[in-house]
Amino acid sequence: MSCTVRLTDVTKAYGRIKAVCGVSFELKQGELVALIGHNGAGKTTLMKLMLGLIRPTSGAVEVLGDNPALGQFAGRRQLGYLPENVSFDSVLTGRETQVFYARLKREPVAEALKLLDTVGLGDAARRRVGTYSKGMRQRLGLAQALIGHPRVLLLDEPTTGLDPELRQTFYEVIQHLSAGGATVLLSSHALTELEERAGRVIIMNRGVKVADGSIDHLRRLAQLPTRIRLKVSDSAPAGPLSWLPDDAVCRRLNGHIVEIDAAPEQKLELLHRATAAGTPVDDLDVVPPTLDELYTHFLRQAEQAG
Ligand code: ATP
Repeated sequence: MSCTVRLTDVTKAYGRIKAVCGVSFELKQGELVALIGHNGAGKTTLMKLMLGLIRPTSGAVEVLGDNPALGQFAGRRQLGYLPENVSFDSVLTGRETQVFYARLKREPVAEALKLLDTVGLGDAARRRVGTYSKGMRQRLGLAQALIGHPRVLLLDEPTTGLDPELRQTFYEVIQHLSAGGATVLLSSHALTELEERAGRVIIMNRGVKVADGSIDHLRRLAQLPTRIRLKVSDSAPAGPLSWLPDDAVCRRLNGHIVEIDAAPEQKLELLHRATAAGTPVDDLDVVPPTLDELYTHFLRQAEQAG
């Protein structure tokens, strides 16, 4: 897979504030990457650097083989961007807005208008944007970002304001794009929804990249305990679970579900212990560390190191 974005030791300072500090990574064609971090961690700044809207204080940014800060039209038209606070001229209709951006990008208008259907705005296309809900404006922003089949798509908190059904549609659209070879980088605070969807996660803390990799890779690095969740049968007697190893870290989630910190390979042993002790088990789940837990782990580690 070829590299579409390359950042090499990039720092962006505003006076004494280092919005981004010594960040390096490469994004590849077809990757769907989540960029996560607290407010002020540097996510928007990274996107602006990739778009060439700002220049790095030091280090190099390369997008599709060019320096984006040079503002070459050929390169820019291959980028799609959905800003965090998307805003449009409220007197234009959705359709007029889309035509306006298609002309700016010198892309076929008919193709751009089809994108309104893709994001579910076909029926509202002739309404003024001023009458749109927040979620509808967000979808118009996505339709605008998709004009011209961008090879690199930068989406700053794209699912904010979308209801669950629209979020689902949104992820279907971007998964389709990344399967077609586009690089998609999206920043978000909605960690749970990214867990199943992002192929890779970059975690930022105070301008510094503190973790980068697939969720499985981050799990291997973090070595947080896996949890084994046992649902003991309703007929099992209440009270202490004598079959648990003495050193087991466990908690009861409710009367019949007990969660134990353990390695995945211990699940059969636990099942065996429970049944040997006469405690019937109805169900058993292995629950690996969530993205939320990994995020907390890497931020804590970075804070302790710094
Ligand atoms: P959020 O999740 O709130 O959108 P973020 O991770 O996108 O945050 P950035 O907007 O990149 O964070 O900001 C990173 C840091 O740089 C913050 O401390 C911010 O105040 C600072 N910063 C960003 N732009 C400027 C600017 N133009 N002038 C001065 N400081 C800035």
